[in-house]
Amino acid sequence: MGVPISQMWTVASYVLKQKLRRRKRYPLVLMLEPLFRCNLACAGCGKIQYPPHILKRDLSLEDALAAVDACGAPMVSIPGGEPLMWPHIQAFVEALVERRKYIYLCSNAILLKEKLDAGWFKPSKYLTFSIHMDGPRDEHDFAVCREGTFDKAMEGMRQAVDMGFRVTTNTTLFDGADPNAVRRFFDEMMDLGVEGMMLSPGYAYDKAPDQKNFLHRKQTNELFDMILSNRKRRWRFNQSPLFLEFLMGTREYDCTPWGNPTYNIFGWQKPCYLLQEGYVDTFDELMNDTQWSNYGVSSGNPACRDCMVHSGYEATAVDHTFSSFGGMWGTIKAMVFNRYASPSAARKLIEEEGKPHGPEVHLVQLGVDVSALRDARARRRSQAGQVA
Ligand code: SF4
Repeated sequence: MGVPISQMWTVASYVLKQKLRRRKRYPLVLMLEPLFRCNLACAGCGKIQYPPHILKRDLSLEDALAAVDACGAPMVSIPGGEPLMWPHIQAFVEALVERRKYIYLCSNAILLKEKLDAGWFKPSKYLTFSIHMDGPRDEHDFAVCREGTFDKAMEGMRQAVDMGFRVTTNTTLFDGADPNAVRRFFDEMMDLGVEGMMLSPGYAYDKAPDQKNFLHRKQTNELFDMILSNRKRRWRFNQSPLFLEFLMGTREYDCTPWGNPTYNIFGWQKPCYLLQEGYVDTFDELMNDTQWSNYGVSSGNPACRDCMVHSGYEATAVDHTFSSFGGMWGTIKAMVFNRYASPSAARKLIEEEGKPHGPEVHLVQLGVDVSALRDARARRRSQAGQVA
């Protein structure tokens, strides 16, 4: 398990308190988006498509802290946009540490080394850099539409780990992801010394420029079953083990969008981080006035049909752990028997080895011989290694 005991204890006691108070809906992680601008323009991103006057806007520090206090969730995730470009990020992190909130600062890490060198942050058990890494070098650079981004992120993460910061990775997988490459990527991240890894399938934002490469439900289960069965003992995940079983298709859950409420420059976003069906001014309005039954896969809402993202379903898994004996027993079992041996998943992995994946799928569609390209790339890398 990639989550420290102190954080697990904070979350467990918080959830149990909500249960004792008979609170039906409660926030677990506040998703606080302080800005939408970014130093990347990824094809799968639904956030950077705003017009320039919106992209220029920043959430004020006062509004951000008021949202944290109104929400009361024990964990605060800071996505974006790129939060290291937000002028108040240092002061905000300091204020959250004082409030003993567990922080996931979600970054592409392009600016991480520079900010660490400038002394912007101090290591703390409350602060985790959650670095956006969409798999191995080629897959990541392709997904973020810029070469060299993987190496830059590795440099920033390496420095953060060396300085004693908590570092996790945050990987979104799309159609065409290579399960064998993702498993090699897990090894690479463990070698780097990250505390744990987080996974999610991509959500088909209608605003995202690339609509073809999002996963549907069955494909998601097949992909994650190959990736997460026959796990290596050294892999650590910073996520609920029941949520990972849900991705593998061995558990059925519905979404609890109220578990990860979202606040940004427009206010409290209804109903979740992904859909934008209006905004309200207060956290209480969000919780009390949203028609929650209209969302999640069982609602029949077409926008939710293929969604299995962690911001919708991880809170469901955590709630399940603490609301029934079956959930608690399932969690303990998943933590103890965590290898998930599966000969059929192992066979499928072997079959996948010969198929084109990721960027190569597009090249095959154009009639390019990808095996020749692979050889050329391997030769280039080996020559570069000899020079270095
Ligand atoms: S299923 Fe996905 S899109 Fe629908 S409410 Fe939940 S998180 Fe949002």
